[in-house]
Amino acid sequence: MTKTILKNIKLIIVGITLITIPSCNTVIKNKTPKTTSNLYKQKVDSIISIMTIDEKIGQLNLPATGPITTGSSKSTGVVKKIEEGKIGGLFNIKDIKNIYEIQKIAVEKSRLGIPLIFGMDVIHGYKTTFPIPLGLSCSWDMELIEKTAKIAANEASANGINWTFSPMVDISRDPRWGRVSEGGGEDPYLGGKIAQAMVKGYQQDSLAAEYTIMSCVKHFALYGASEAGRDYNTVDMSRIKMYNEYLPPYKAAIEEGAGSVMASFNEIDGIPATGNKWLLTDLLRDDWGFNGFVVSDYTGIYEMRAHGMGDEFDVTTLALKAGLDMDMAGDSPNIAASYTNTLKEAINKGKITIEDIDKAVARILTAKYKLGLFDDPYKYCNVKRSENQTYTQVNRSFARLVGAESTVLLKNNNQLLPLKKSGTIAVIGPLAKASNNMPGTWSVSTDHATAISVWDGLEQTVGNQVNLLYAKGSNITKDLALEKRVTMFGKDIPRDEKTDKQLLNEALSIAKKSDVIVATIGETSEFSGESSSRTNIEIPQVQKDLLQALLKTGKPVVLVLFTGRPLTLVEESETVPVILNVWFPGSEAGLSISDVLFGDVNPSGKLTMTFPRNVGQVPLYYNHKNTGRPLGNNEGKFEKFKTNYLDVRNEALYPFGYGLSYTTFEYGKIKLDKTSMTNNDTINVSVDITNTGNYDGKEVVQLYIRDLVGTVTRPVKELKGFQKIFLKKGETKTVTFTISIEDLKFYNYDFDFVAESGDFEVFIGTDSNTTLKSKFTLTE
Ligand code: BGC
Repeated sequence: MTKTILKNIKLIIVGITLITIPSCNTVIKNKTPKTTSNLYKQKVDSIISIMTIDEKIGQLNLPATGPITTGSSKSTGVVKKIEEGKIGGLFNIKDIKNIYEIQKIAVEKSRLGIPLIFGMDVIHGYKTTFPIPLGLSCSWDMELIEKTAKIAANEASANGINWTFSPMVDISRDPRWGRVSEGGGEDPYLGGKIAQAMVKGYQQDSLAAEYTIMSCVKHFALYGASEAGRDYNTVDMSRIKMYNEYLPPYKAAIEEGAGSVMASFNEIDGIPATGNKWLLTDLLRDDWGFNGFVVSDYTGIYEMRAHGMGDEFDVTTLALKAGLDMDMAGDSPNIAASYTNTLKEAINKGKITIEDIDKAVARILTAKYKLGLFDDPYKYCNVKRSENQTYTQVNRSFARLVGAESTVLLKNNNQLLPLKKSGTIAVIGPLAKASNNMPGTWSVSTDHATAISVWDGLEQTVGNQVNLLYAKGSNITKDLALEKRVTMFGKDIPRDEKTDKQLLNEALSIAKKSDVIVATIGETSEFSGESSSRTNIEIPQVQKDLLQALLKTGKPVVLVLFTGRPLTLVEESETVPVILNVWFPGSEAGLSISDVLFGDVNPSGKLTMTFPRNVGQVPLYYNHKNTGRPLGNNEGKFEKFKTNYLDVRNEALYPFGYGLSYTTFEYGKIKLDKTSMTNNDTINVSVDITNTGNYDGKEVVQLYIRDLVGTVTRPVKELKGFQKIFLKKGETKTVTFTISIEDLKFYNYDFDFVAESGDFEVFIGTDSNTTLKSKFTLTE
C-alpha cells in the first residue's frame, strides 16, 4: 500500500469516530451490556475489516516493558513492534513523557494509528499511597474506600495511565498466602461491597472522562484459595463453595461495570483459569453479562505449558477459545507460547479461525473507545494535570486520615492509649525509621523516600511537647537470606552490623530513660504481597525477643505492629499491654500512627480477616459450616469426638469484625418490627447503641444471619449488613437494618439463587463473635 492510502485509512477511522461515536461522557456500565457494545460495534467492525492478521494479533499483545515486573519476561524491540502495529498496550511504564512519546509512535507511525492502552498496578494509590488493601478494608467505610480509588485514578490518569490492574477481590482465608495483603479479606459480602466501591472510584460515571481509569478485576477466579497458602499453587473447590463464598466479589465488580477482568494463575476444576471456557465465557459473559475484555495474568498463557495443557499451540488456542483476549507479558524472546508467536500459524493449522481472533480484537478496541482514546489518544498525558494533581497536600492529608481509619486496636489494657503529649517516649524497633516500607507492598508508583516514618511522624506532630528517643533494637530477622527477600524492590532496611546483644542493650538503655515505649516491629512490607508466602506467621523471633526484653523493663509498652497479613500473636496478646495493628498505612504513615497514638483519631478499624492462634488452625474464618459434631460454646475445652484439636482451642485469637476503640459501646436488645416475612416483604431489625466510655468514637455495627435449615448446609453466620456510626460520649443511637429476601438467598444444589423458607437467626454486634441475637421466619 502506498503512503497516501495509508493516510486515507487513518482518515476513514477518524471520520467514523466523528460520525458514529457518542459523546465522551456517555455512561458505560456493564449493567446494560448489549446497548453498550452496540455503541461502538459499527466503528470497531470497520477497523477490523481493514486490519491485517498481524495487526489483529498485535492488539492482543500486552508486553512487559517498564521497570516494574513480576516475572522474568521482558519484551524487546518494542518501538519497531509498535510501528508495525504489533502491540495493543503496554504496562507499568511510569513516566508521562515516555507514555506520550510512545503513544505518538502508535498513533503517527503505525499504519492504522490505533492508540495504545497503558496499564499499571495502581493498587492502593498512585503516588499518594493509601494503606495496603487489607488494611483499607478494615475501615469498613465504603465512601472512604471509593475516594481512595478516585484519587488514585485522578493521579494515575494525570500521568498517562488509563487502566489499572485493580481491584484484587480474591477472598482470602489463609494468612500464609502473601497476597492476602492485596485484597479485602475473608468475607464475600464485605468483599462485594469493597469491589464495588473500588470500581466506582476508578471509573465513576464515565470511563471517557480524563480523570477516570478502567479497572481490571482480578484474579478471576479463586486465586485466594491456593492450597496451603503457597502462591501460584493449585486450587480445588466445589462449585457450591465457589458460588456462595468466592465468586460474589467478582460478580459485584462486574455489576458495577468494571471494564476488564484478569484471569488468575490457578486452575479451576482442573483447567487453568486462563484457558477455562466455563469461567471466562459461560459464567463471566453468558451468565453475568460481562462485555469488557479479559487479560491474562503475567505470562499466564505461557504458564499453561507447565500446568500440562500441551504445546504452545494447544495453550494459546485454549486461551483464545476460552475467551482470553489479551496476552500479558507473553511477547518475549524466551517465550514461545504467546499469542504473538502462535496465532497466525494456529489459523493455518485450522486450530482457530479468524473470527476467534476478531472477537478478542473487537473487545480490546471497544475498551479503547470507551476510554475515549480514539477521540484523543493523548488525553491522559496532560503535564499540567500531572504537576498539579499528583501527590498534592490535599491528597496526602486524606491519606493520613485513611491510614488512621484503617488502624485496628487489638488490645489496650488499662487504657494505656491514647498517650499523653508529654514526658519521654522511647521509639524502638527496626521499623521506626523505615519510611520506604510505609507505603506497603504494590506501591510501585510512589516515592518511597518521602513517605513518613513513625519517627518522622512523631517528630512532626509531638516533637515539641514530647522528649523522643530512638533505638533500632534489632534487625528485621536473624536470617540473612530471608531478610534479603523481604526488603527488595528498593525497600531495604540497612542491616545493622552490631550484634543482637549490642542492639538490644542500646534499646534497653534508651527504654530505661523513657516513660513509655513505642515498639515499632513486625513484618517489612515485602514480607507480604506476590510470591511472599510464609509457613511461620509469627513476628520474626529476633523482634519477639526484643519485645519481651522491653517488657521486662517494667515500662509500659505499646506495640505498633506492621504486617501485611494476620499474624499469630498469642505470646504478644498475653504479655504486651497494647497492640495497635497499623498494617502499612501509606505515604503519611507516621502521621496517621501519631494521630491514633495520641487520640487525635479514635481507632475504629475492624478486622476483615481472622487472626488465628496458630498456623495449624488455618484456614480459619468466621463463616464456616457447623459440621455434624460442632463443639458448642464450652469456653475452649477439648471434647472427645467433637470437631476440635487436642492442642489448641477452635476460636480465633482475634475474630473477623474485631477491633477496639478508646471508648466503649453498649448494645441494647435486638428489636424486630415483625417476626415473619414473605418473599415480597422486609423485616426491620434495630438496636440501640450507647457510647458508654470517655471519648467520642465510631463503631462498625455488624449484622449477621444464620439460616438454620437448608437444602444444603449453611454457614454458622454470614455478614449481611454493617453501618459505621459516630457516637459522641454518652450518646445513644438506634441503628436499623432492613433485611430483604436478597439477604437470605444462596446458591442451592442446582445453582439456583434462592431463599428457602424456614427459621433464621439474626445477630447484631461489635464483631463476628456476637451472641446478641433474635429470630424470624421466612414463610412461603
Ligand atoms: C500479578 C498481577 C499483576 C501483574 C502485572 C502479576 O504477577 O499476579 O496481580 O497485576 O503481575 O504486574
